[in-house]
Amino acid sequence: MSEASTQNPAQDAGQERELTDGFHLVIDALKLNGVETIYHVPGIPVTDLGRMAQAAGIRVISFRHEQNAGNAAAIAGYLTQKPGICLTVSAPGFLNGLTALANATTNCFPMILISGSSEREIVDLQQGDYEEMDQLAIAKPLCKAAFRVLHAADIGIAVARAIRAAVSGRPGGVYLDLPAKLFSQVMDAEKGAQSLVKVIDAAPAQIPAPSAIKRGLDVLASAKRPLVILGKGAAYAQVDETIRTFIEKSGVPFLQMSMAKGLLPDTHPQSAGAARSTVLKDADVVMLIGARLNWLLSHGKGKTWGDAPKKFIQIDIEPTEMDSNIEIVAPIVGDIGSCVSALLAGMGANWAKPPSDWMDTIMAKRDENIAKMAPRLMNNKSPMDFHGALGALRTVVKERPDMILINEGANTLDLARGIIDMYQPRKRLDVGTWGVMGIGMGYAVAAAIETGKPVLAVEGDSAFGFSGMEVETICRYNLPVCIVIFNNSGIYRGTDVNTNGSDPATTVFVRDSRYDKMMEAFGGVGVNATSPDELLRAVNAAIDSGKPTLINAVIDPAAGTESGRIGNLNPQSVVKKK
Ligand code: ADP
Ligand code: MG
Repeated sequence: MSEASTQNPAQDAGQERELTDGFHLVIDALKLNGVETIYHVPGIPVTDLGRMAQAAGIRVISFRHEQNAGNAAAIAGYLTQKPGICLTVSAPGFLNGLTALANATTNCFPMILISGSSEREIVDLQQGDYEEMDQLAIAKPLCKAAFRVLHAADIGIAVARAIRAAVSGRPGGVYLDLPAKLFSQVMDAEKGAQSLVKVIDAAPAQIPAPSAIKRGLDVLASAKRPLVILGKGAAYAQVDETIRTFIEKSGVPFLQMSMAKGLLPDTHPQSAGAARSTVLKDADVVMLIGARLNWLLSHGKGKTWGDAPKKFIQIDIEPTEMDSNIEIVAPIVGDIGSCVSALLAGMGANWAKPPSDWMDTIMAKRDENIAKMAPRLMNNKSPMDFHGALGALRTVVKERPDMILINEGANTLDLARGIIDMYQPRKRLDVGTWGVMGIGMGYAVAAAIETGKPVLAVEGDSAFGFSGMEVETICRYNLPVCIVIFNNSGIYRGTDVNTNGSDPATTVFVRDSRYDKMMEAFGGVGVNATSPDELLRAVNAAIDSGKPTLINAVIDPAAGTESGRIGNLNPQSVVKKK
């Protein structure tokens, strides 16, 4: 490389720029495509890229660990339909970000992980560069697409490809590998500007075939006990009114998957949420809208689904999702907005709603279950049990329906999902398809930044630990985030005992710990809440003040069951040791 090409023209700020370089081209390409925020951890070789992006008017949020920055980018993508951008350093930073990239891909969230990397020549000869790793090869199986850029002139097209790959069709994670040398490569500024690409129609509508719509409607019309299941793909699509109109016009009861809750209010008269097991067992036709028949729906078969024969209609943008677990008799491939609009148009004026006895049965079951639960949610025990604490939080969410709720844990997750009603779309963000722990603080930061709304993060004490250091990030950016830790002193419970030595049992944490003090260490507000009343007051105060707050909610260590609702997934040893 010549002398001139290693200079950094970026540093000649005031001067007229005739040359540009890799740093500027990356930033210009992102800005041209509307990127407003980068979720980041600084370090070699991207420290200056972060600084320069900030100087160029992009909001750059620096985290303490790449996994959290990556999770933030992923959920930003889900909330905005634009790829969330995460920027990491080479090898270890890249690997830390990769968990989030894989999680984004699994959940169909659009995200781009941009990582610096070491020099190709050295990596390929395995000569031991600083943080040497063949990152492109490692990223490939874990994302939708992976690209590497070797020439500054290709940055524009690479960023365009990355954006299109992330958001078109089924959204997902994309990896963009930028070797260190690329950043200081220079080129003529005018040619550089011409090399940039503004992506036009990044996620084109995918119109379903009229024959598929007709087949779907015929099957739905034949049902005596129909059910619609709305998944997070339906929430992602941002066609909330179209979906509501379709549900109401069809008269079909609906279930909402965890992150789809609130697409229609959980209190909607057609919501079968509180009669879930009944409708899954007894329905004869099930229409899936942006929901997959994966483990979360017992793969569409087995005990959960009962013996009654069922026909499935599925709307999805990904053709190969059809028949993934069982036969889909009416596949409707296309984007949810186009598909549901076409269904509505095809229903005409004389659509017959399902027989009323089906709806009556569901309503009766629903009201019975709600009545059974009510007294448990009103208990004011101290230390709290899960129901008492969640009863308080349920009230807060009801009164503040536009707040974002983040939720992770085992019991804290499973019980909150059922107990806390949601009223607006895309307000519940949780562990998603993998049921992964560690999304909490990354999601909380991005939710606050992308929506400007208050955020309530309801966290198991174990779940919180995976991203807990980001409370400093929350304080540093002064975000309106209220974290509630359900502190039962352990994983599942805090009561396990090791009978074989002096070490603590594998699932317990320090007793009577005070997570609220962590928040105080960084200038935030910490509260120790020992009863549902105290918890309710503390959350309301936090949200009214908008100050970063952490509430240590003291839960009885004996409350909680193994793995929450999914204890059945634990393999059992058959060997009995003495
Ligand atoms: P849940 O866990 O809520 O059931 P999943 O993540 O399993 O939801 O399923 C979401 C589905 O939605 C995926 O199969 C994905 O392909 C699909 N999807 C995502 N966005 C769209 C869209 N805009 N139009 C149609 N389908 C979509
Ligand atoms: Mg716990």
